[in-house]
Amino acid sequence: MTSLHLLRPLARKAVTSSCQRLTRRALSSPSTVIAFPSLAAHQQLRFASSKHPKGFVPPSPDDLEELRERVQEFTRREVTEEVAAAADKKNDFPAELWSKLGEAGFLGITADEDVGGLGLGYQAHCIVMEELSRASGSIALSYAAHSQLCVNQIQLHGTPEQKAKYLPKLTAGQWVGALAMSETGAGSDVVSMRTTAKEATDAQGRHGYVLNGSKMWITNGPYADVVVVYAKTKPDAGSKGMTAFLVDTGSSPGFSCARKLDKMGMRGSPTGELMFENVFVPEDRVLGSLHGATRVLMSGLDLERLVLSAGPLGLMQAAMDVTLPFVHQRKQFGTPVAHFQLVQGKLADMYTKMQASRAYTYTTARQIDETGEIRTQDCAGAILYAAERATECALDSIQLLGGMGYMEEMPASRIMRDAKLYEIGAGTSEVRRMVIGRAFNKEFAHLA
Ligand SMILES: Cc1cc2nc3c(=O)[nH]c(=O)nc-3n(C[C@H](O)[C@H](O)[C@H](O)COP(=O)(O)OP(=O)(O)OC[C@H]3O[C@@H](n4cnc5c(N)ncnc54)[C@H](O)[C@@H]3O)c2cc1C
Repeated sequence: MTSLHLLRPLARKAVTSSCQRLTRRALSSPSTVIAFPSLAAHQQLRFASSKHPKGFVPPSPDDLEELRERVQEFTRREVTEEVAAAADKKNDFPAELWSKLGEAGFLGITADEDVGGLGLGYQAHCIVMEELSRASGSIALSYAAHSQLCVNQIQLHGTPEQKAKYLPKLTAGQWVGALAMSETGAGSDVVSMRTTAKEATDAQGRHGYVLNGSKMWITNGPYADVVVVYAKTKPDAGSKGMTAFLVDTGSSPGFSCARKLDKMGMRGSPTGELMFENVFVPEDRVLGSLHGATRVLMSGLDLERLVLSAGPLGLMQAAMDVTLPFVHQRKQFGTPVAHFQLVQGKLADMYTKMQASRAYTYTTARQIDETGEIRTQDCAGAILYAAERATECALDSIQLLGGMGYMEEMPASRIMRDAKLYEIGAGTSEVRRMVIGRAFNKEFAHLA
């Protein structure tokens, strides 16, 4: 069994060996470049994407497979079925996991290595998200809120000082991160948010902003040490008047978590309502540019949708993991129920939906890693498709388990309750369809 402290260098090795292989192949001879035309392109694009960490080189399939095996070793040891079931029952995240995830390197997949990250890309992030979700949907959701919504936003938009201050603690799992955008009155229509940030000077003469308002349904909110908070700095300017701030919850008087929310699923992922009552934030905690949150938000949303689309993939695999052995063991009418054609039909549908979803997510992630091009319709499409298929697969799993599927002692109902979130969180299925439609409106505007 690989010990925990070995996981981090192994994950690092994945990208290092990828770099070495790619460099060797590309430099060896002109004919090699002709034989691998896309590798020449990789070399040219090496630093081209502003969405990737410093020195990023797209990993090879072997490297990604190795990373997947490392995550599976981690989940087999640290996120067992007992851990997943207990998190669901207790309605809480197992806090000791943060440092273990940090030690393994998984909290900073897309962060620069000099701030504790692994310097990997979005295929790698999807793999970690998928495998964690296979073990526990809710632990993985909290993981993604931390590693993608918070860490990756700071990685992409933070100043060198902000990165140096926040990322080492976040990637090590010493601090927990969150992102707060939604409000009770502003979910799908996030631009209608009412939280404000007004220019002010504090008692020590520091220039900054005073935040007032509240945020709803915030993943990791009850325990977060740092929250990326969106607020209106020009309330009349719509989407051009919002700014993102980094709020240190422990040293920000006026910040509080009003309540931890009780949910139908994703119960191992703490969700909270956050209050901001005259919270002073110094100006060096503005993330991105002043009034420029829409850019931070929109570019973040595409990648957030992509990485989160791996959540339903893991849940579909978890549904298969529970269902396949059960239907082959369970006999009725003297035959394993898996041999009945109606049961086979359901199994075939589950499997096909999972594989099709997987292909869409990883094709989209690979395109981003290899070309730097982010297609909004594919990031939204990948999560739209995977999320709806995951709910269907989870319901089929319950059906195929019969009475046992309805019992809490089996994981099928937890998988179904967890899966449903992905049709709502990070934008609903309806909004994702709108996003895809709008992307085509933009592309074909010249024909209107
Ligand atoms: C467990 C959980 C975790 C979350 N974590 C976070 C987090 O970490 N940070 C954060 O900021 N937010 C978070 N959210 C909030 C989440 O992003 C919102 O709940 C989501 O965007 C939907 O907003 P809403 O709940 O206000 O629904 P509403 O926007 O009120 O939508 C209600 C219904 O109307 C539909 N609808 C709305 N507008 C349209 C339209 N124009 N056309 C067609 N249909 C429409 C919706 O699709 C939905 O079916 C989380 C939510 C949950 C449940």
